[in-house]
Amino acid sequence: MHIAIVGAGFTGLSAGFALQKQGHMVTIFEQETIPGGLAIGFQQPKWDWSLEKHYHHIFTSDTAIRALSEEIGVPFHFMRPNTSSLIDDEIIQLDSPVKLLQFHAIPFIDRVRMGAVLAYLKYIANWQKLEQFTAHDWLQKAVGKVPYGTLWEPLLKAKFGSYYKDISLAWFWARIKARTTQLGYPEGGFQHFSQKLADTVNQAGGIIHYNSIVTKIEKLNSSIHITHGSKTELFDRVIVTVPNGLFARMTPTLPREYIKKLTSFKGIGAVNMVLELDAPFLKDDVYWLNMCDREYPFLAVVEHTNFIPKEHYNGTHILYVGNYLSHDHPYFRMNKEDLLKEYHPYLEKLHPGYSKHVLKTHIFHAPFAQPIVTKNFSQNILPFETPLVGIYLANMQQVYPWDRGTNFAVELGQRVAGQIV
Ligand SMILES: Cc1cc2nc3c(=O)[nH]c(=O)nc-3n(C[C@H](O)[C@H](O)[C@H](O)COP(=O)(O)OP(=O)(O)OC[C@H]3O[C@@H](n4cnc5c(N)ncnc54)[C@H](O)[C@@H]3O)c2cc1C
Repeated sequence: MHIAIVGAGFTGLSAGFALQKQGHMVTIFEQETIPGGLAIGFQQPKWDWSLEKHYHHIFTSDTAIRALSEEIGVPFHFMRPNTSSLIDDEIIQLDSPVKLLQFHAIPFIDRVRMGAVLAYLKYIANWQKLEQFTAHDWLQKAVGKVPYGTLWEPLLKAKFGSYYKDISLAWFWARIKARTTQLGYPEGGFQHFSQKLADTVNQAGGIIHYNSIVTKIEKLNSSIHITHGSKTELFDRVIVTVPNGLFARMTPTLPREYIKKLTSFKGIGAVNMVLELDAPFLKDDVYWLNMCDREYPFLAVVEHTNFIPKEHYNGTHILYVGNYLSHDHPYFRMNKEDLLKEYHPYLEKLHPGYSKHVLKTHIFHAPFAQPIVTKNFSQNILPFETPLVGIYLANMQQVYPWDRGTNFAVELGQRVAGQIV
């Protein structure tokens, strides 16, 4: 069969590679000039590794992407960087059971209770039982209002904005279950990984059209017509890896009820600022700093070069200032100078005088970065098959209860390919 794939992110590329192994012809359409999707990177002239526009790492439990990395020959390096939280203007390392017991922002008895709740969530396998609760309600009861309000409520608020009270406990469970203190990063960066995967697809005879925006998908008789630019091509099957709302827009002949369903899914966007610096920003080699103080207008500060050696970036220190925001938030419309002005007083508090070390600033937007997963979300997940036979949907709105990520994108791509075959 000749199978088209819309999107050369991790889902699309993995689906393509898996289909080729079954002897199918694959053509991938990608609107950007390079592969990678949300894990896309960029590279300055003197850097030998690429850098993600949005901070990325994997966990030791991410088996699908680790297996793929061996197949395509891009190894992951695992390290144990320091993850901390900012609470009442103090940076507190909080990334192991021992650190939790030493976490003096809450009374000792609450730390023990929190540890017991985390151990319970890590131990249980049946997430289906949990999804009838919201993380907000259940965690408040399980660990107590004050500890929840100190640590997790600010993070849920920062990640999900006005939806924070609605998020399924199963989503929270999945983060505790799958996350490890050891973090992995592909040699050369995630861009190098996706480029190597794209090259592998090309070498096996697959075609990838970059700069190619799919504007229409139509089912006519037994074939599927894909329109990109002024061209229309015919395929036997199509896999669409873009978010539900976009799929609805490009496929107008889907039944009205199904389109209504597709457009009812909600998501939140991301705005990431990247600072290139000539000096370190965070003390004590902190890689990840969660902002538990909601006065700060961002979710996290991530010092990439406290995880990956700065030598790969010509000695430059790399800092992300990350934010999840709804698409209509004013930060989406600000240029990098205005956004840095907004962030400046808070960055100055974290590192007085940092601005004299800033060499370059970048700003990156992702309008759809994180699905909103509410109570009993498993009942809403759409199957790969759509009402138009031969057109399949595989995107990050289907990986629940797992949090979206490159590992689950790889797994999703392989699963949808398996279903078609
Ligand atoms: C801020 C942020 C931090 C993250 N951190 C991590 C992390 O630490 N670890 C991790 O593993 N994951 C992380 N992720 C998630 C990870 O990047 C995604 O889950 C994964 O890349 C999704 O892959 P995908 O292929 O399903 O979707 P996408 O990457 O969204 O791919 C869809 C592709 O379709 C293309 N496309 C869209 N419309 C069209 C069209 N009309 N025509 C043609 N092409 C089109 C897009 O350009 C894109 O390339 C993060 C994401 C964000 C935003």
